[in-house]
Amino acid sequence: MAERYADIIVDISHEKVDRPFQYRIPPELSAAVYPGVRVHVPFGIGNRDKVGYVVDVSDRAAYPAEKIKDIAAVDDKAVSVQSRQIRIAYWLKRQYGSTMIAALKTVLPVKQKLRQLEQKKVTACLTAEELLEAARECGERRQTAKARVLCALSEDGTLPYELIRRKLNVAPATMQALEKQGFLRIETESIYRNPVKPMAGTEKKIVLSEAQRTVIEDVLRDYRAGKPQTYLLHGVTGSGKTEVYLGIIEQMIAMGKQAIVLIPEIALTYQTLLRFYRRFGDRVSVMNSTLSQGEKYDQMRRAAAGDIDVIIGPRSALFTPFPALGVIVVDEEHEGSYKSESAPKYHARETAIQIASMHGAAVVLGSATPSMEAYWRAQQGEYRLYEMRARHGSSRLPDVHIVDLREELRHGNRSVFSGMLRELMKRRLAAGEQTMLFLNRRGYAGFVSCRACGHVMKCPHCDVSLSEHGNGMLVCHYCGYEERRRANCPVCGSKYLLGFKAGTEQIVEALRGEFPEARVLRMDADTTRTRESYEKILAAFADGRADILVGTQMIVKGHDFPNVTLVGILAADLSLNRSDYRASERTFQLLTQAAGRAGRGDKPGEVVIQTYQPEHYSIVHAAMQDYQGFYEEEILYRELMQYPPIAHMLAVLVTSADDAAGAALCAQLAALVKDRTDEDGRGGQKSQVIGPVPASIAKINDLYRHVLYVKDADYERLVEIKDMLELYSREKERKNLTVQYDFDPMNTY
Ligand code: ADP
Ligand code: ZN
Ligand code: ZN
Repeated sequence: MAERYADIIVDISHEKVDRPFQYRIPPELSAAVYPGVRVHVPFGIGNRDKVGYVVDVSDRAAYPAEKIKDIAAVDDKAVSVQSRQIRIAYWLKRQYGSTMIAALKTVLPVKQKLRQLEQKKVTACLTAEELLEAARECGERRQTAKARVLCALSEDGTLPYELIRRKLNVAPATMQALEKQGFLRIETESIYRNPVKPMAGTEKKIVLSEAQRTVIEDVLRDYRAGKPQTYLLHGVTGSGKTEVYLGIIEQMIAMGKQAIVLIPEIALTYQTLLRFYRRFGDRVSVMNSTLSQGEKYDQMRRAAAGDIDVIIGPRSALFTPFPALGVIVVDEEHEGSYKSESAPKYHARETAIQIASMHGAAVVLGSATPSMEAYWRAQQGEYRLYEMRARHGSSRLPDVHIVDLREELRHGNRSVFSGMLRELMKRRLAAGEQTMLFLNRRGYAGFVSCRACGHVMKCPHCDVSLSEHGNGMLVCHYCGYEERRRANCPVCGSKYLLGFKAGTEQIVEALRGEFPEARVLRMDADTTRTRESYEKILAAFADGRADILVGTQMIVKGHDFPNVTLVGILAADLSLNRSDYRASERTFQLLTQAAGRAGRGDKPGEVVIQTYQPEHYSIVHAAMQDYQGFYEEEILYRELMQYPPIAHMLAVLVTSADDAAGAALCAQLAALVKDRTDEDGRGGQKSQVIGPVPASIAKINDLYRHVLYVKDADYERLVEIKDMLELYSREKERKNLTVQYDFDPMNTY
């Protein structure tokens, strides 16, 4: 038998992670050595006995074989937290393609010097009634930040300082002023106990609905029976999903288990956090991008030591090293931010399921618009599906109007606002109500369509929109098909065959012209370079300091604006015609979410969707809030074109400083895959190779990008192909010539 070797990390603190040492696996230990296993090895010149962890195994020696020492023994005590983390890292590396080092860095917290964490809390010095009275007075003086703090304290007499600072967006100076005025006390404690203390009588008692009870009972019954599963809760915002998570977690904690709750950072609001704090007090910890590495490390340490039971955060919170994990919740599971953008390009949903299986834990997914992946798996019986239809409280779904922009053109209206939208905005301004205007520009890739008939120029092979390039060509970003840009529409002959060019700035300009008296706020990537500016704009709008908020998809998440009664979607086609197979799904999700922003308060809401394709199924079903109808049409398209979730797709991205070298390597990789798939017939079933092509952004930071896609119904086949390409390109790769892998990519490259 060939010799086998193990890469071993001696001392699993982060500094050493970059440097595994290779040891030989003695044949008698062969079966017992695999990633995650703890071993004894002779270390250094004196061959001191040291404990290490196996991070990888291979049959290739990295040094002359005679210089490699043998593993002394396997240390097979109970599975440690570290073993489990290394196994997860190994799984990430294999499943998504990356180096083991990158995978370990994703999973292990960065160790840093610990500074004593100061925890501050804020305690009210007045009664709830007095606070509300003071809040009202501040409101009248337009001191809205002060009013927000006083209102919050009237419900909860004690709150974490961080929650007020970051989530209510209140400046430190404002807090100091309130303290001077004698409204509150800011206290510092080295350890934090009961950060939230509700004022007497403010806590609302909830009687769970039948639907909510059923989910909670099923999850816990399966768990106790040792058969935890993945559950998908499909319910509109406000249908009570969070109450279900809270109920499950409460019982898990009672059994001595812990919980991880993933919520996209942008959707993690003050109200949601507060509900967790109220229920679980100081057993909850929140992870977000405003924490320093040291603070994150401290949280990980507290989790491993059993000091907390619940962690809430974005996708990286998945790797919290709890000793006895009971459940992972993935809220808004359809969100694109659950996919990592750097290697390993893991998806938090799949990774959650993998981590849960290692712990025997349950996974609860929730969404108002489930991803095609999750809903399809539920249909296949892999996940258990629960539909939560009713909304709690009085708020109704809004009335949705679809405006056909082709008609507007026929009537001579070339403005960005249709007649209907203009009229409805005018009424809102008169009534002192607010409007949100939504322009989805992300991923906008220069599609070309006919303004007269709505026809979109598409790739005949891939059925995605073609993108306009400067040289007068229309190009497919999957397969490289191109055709010359024409002057007239191939369907109706009109001369209005155009690219779409409008940004939020132009919208604001147009508003100035139409409604000079309106107060307008703009929110997009340009105006929100920092997280703080993002919160500031939203807070200003929530305080009523503007009549109209114009923005990109950032504005459709999170915050509740009770005074918004009109939402205008200016060009639904922008997201519909991305050169990407997920375009329709994205559009449906965005439109459904955006529509959900109207009429959150007591006043009913209206939504206007402007489009050149009013008959498109994403738009029709979004207007009716009909998820099922959308799913059934979309899955047919995925089946026909063999796109995920029906098949899997591997993107191979080659970046290089030298354009020709990158193109050549990408072509070699493509040829390699084609040769291999020609060899093994598998009854005519072959992996399908698309490309190589220059990426849609052909150059970033002076590095040229070439991409190749491989489709196959069998994920494992794609993993094998990735392994083969990795082996082949290992020698070719160097600084400025690298290959990256992305399974089931979220975006076109
Ligand atoms: P989702 O997570 O689906 O958006 P939530 O759990 O946040 O829904 O519920 C929306 C609102 O309805 C919350 O204010 C919540 O407290 C309330 N709610 C949920 N379930 C119940 C219930 N069974 N009885 C009373 N109020 C409820
Ligand atoms: Zn036309
Ligand atoms: Zn194509």
